[in-house]
Amino acid sequence: MSKWVINAAGLGARHVGDLYNAETFEIKPRRGQFVVYDKAASGLLRHVLAPLPDCTGKGILLFPTIFDNVIAVSNSSFITTLCFCKPSPNTL
Ligand SMILES: Cc1cc2nc3c(=O)[nH]c(=O)nc-3n(C[C@H](O)[C@H](O)[C@H](O)COP(=O)(O)OP(=O)(O)OC[C@H]3O[C@@H](n4cnc5c(N)ncnc54)[C@H](O)[C@@H]3O)c2cc1C
Repeated sequence: MSKWVINAAGLGARHVGDLYNAETFEIKPRRGQFVVYDKAASGLLRHVLAPLPDCTGKGILLFPTIFDNVIAVSNSSFITTLCFCKPSPNTL
């Protein structure tokens, strides 16, 4: 039996902790979504735009890519399930 266990399972840490009866804790997962704009948007932005961080996070960053897309990253919303593969229509 090991004396120490390092639980580094990220969002699965609660599940892994339950396997060896670790002290219980709550994970409040949040989802962030990237929006990649089409190349038609390339003329709109030539620099990285970063808002000042606040208590809710780093804010939504806008940046151009070397492929002439513009990316907005990332919004942040609490989720109740870890099965969240589909993009949310509200973000789009
Ligand atoms: C797209 C994206 C961009 C990001 N950009 C940034 C950034 O710019 N700066 C920043 O600071 N952070 C960023 N983050 C957040 C950062 O990646 C996470 O906060 C960080 O990876 C968390 O590290 P972790 O070791 O706790 O968990 P993870 O990196 O999630 O590692 C957990 C590992 O445990 C494994 N695992 C889970 N459950 C089990 C299980 N039951 N059994 C076995 N293995 C399991 C997983 O497969 C994974 O390999 C970003 C995240 C994403 C998704």
